[in-house]
Amino acid sequence: MTTVLIDDRCTACGACLATCPTGALRVAPLRPRVIDSRCTACLDCVEICPRGAIREVAR
Ligand code: SF4
Ligand code: SF4
Repeated sequence: MTTVLIDDRCTACGACLATCPTGALRVAPLRPRVIDSRCTACLDCVEICPRGAIREVAR
């Protein structure tokens, strides 16, 4: 099973929040928070992130 991880390159632009089809990304103080149980690893957020701050990881 896989999910995604957001690292400190994130500038909190919000693009990934808008693109996630399952609501697995939520607003959090520094950068979006990933709700692993909702992530289907579609990688739409990885593709849209302008900073390359999201990557697929095993869970
Ligand atoms: S798209 Fe990338 S830079 Fe923008 S909020 Fe999401 S992780 Fe951060
Ligand atoms: S990989 Fe897909 S389902 Fe998972 S957080 Fe990113 S956009 Fe949402």
